[in-house]
Amino acid sequence: MVGVQQQLGLEGIPDKLVRVTPARLSTWAGCPRRYRMAYLDRPAPKRGGAWANATLGAVVHNALKAYFELPRDQRTPQRAELLVHRCWKSDGFADSEQAAEHRRRAQRWVHDYVSALPADFTPVAVERWVSAPVGEIIAEGRVDRVDERDGELVIVDYKTGRHGLRVDDAKNSLALGLYAMAVRKTLRRRCNRVELHHLPTGTVTAWDHTAESLDGLRERAERLAGEIQEATDALDSANANDVAEEAFPVRTGPHCSWCDFRAHCTRGQQAAPDLRPWALLGDG
Ligand code: SF4
Repeated sequence: MVGVQQQLGLEGIPDKLVRVTPARLSTWAGCPRRYRMAYLDRPAPKRGGAWANATLGAVVHNALKAYFELPRDQRTPQRAELLVHRCWKSDGFADSEQAAEHRRRAQRWVHDYVSALPADFTPVAVERWVSAPVGEIIAEGRVDRVDERDGELVIVDYKTGRHGLRVDDAKNSLALGLYAMAVRKTLRRRCNRVELHHLPTGTVTAWDHTAESLDGLRERAERLAGEIQEATDALDSANANDVAEEAFPVRTGPHCSWCDFRAHCTRGQQAAPDLRPWALLGDG
């Protein structure tokens, strides 16, 4: 269930503050049925196996986290490569040869990425958990990195997907916008800029939020959280079986190919082809 916290609102009337993560909101927006299976159904339906591209992304995130936790004088590109090796997992890869090829790729990405950072660079926070009231919700989640530039905080999100990124990806990212708003409250500093750092191409896609653009994301998050709460409340009601299908409709599309719950969803299987677990790896 979405977490709910009571707070005293106007005239002492308790208002519900719904606790949500960007991952929950985006799962709901992508497919309410998938949301139900991921967060509500008990016993939880068995998920599909690992995806190689997700494994690769997790390894790079873990290696960079470990890198920035080192004392500054030990942070070298060679050490970063070693950390990729140490964090490596082969879940979802076709075989050891394919896994080794992608491990070398990831080592090169991380080597080149840290080589391009200023010599004296130190982030403000790494893998920082934030949780703060944002409008009618409590936004929370783990931020890959928080930097400081020109006296302001910057939200940094690592990307390892096969496609490059557009400015709209940074501008419209609900996760980045919510993190910016939550970081402002948690660290009590200005935070307008959000950045996507795409390791395979070494590019940074940035957006400087305004009060208006953040308001738009907050409203979107509140609307999605409201929909989730309404559907969840309906599921908790006496005639739960009747509403389970209706309140959590399937939303089919290409994403059904890599949905964790595809095995439990006939409509999704009909809507998109089955993919091998390494099909979403890039070539570069
Ligand atoms: S397979 Fe598609 S329609 Fe079915 S739950 Fe997953 S995302 Fe939704």
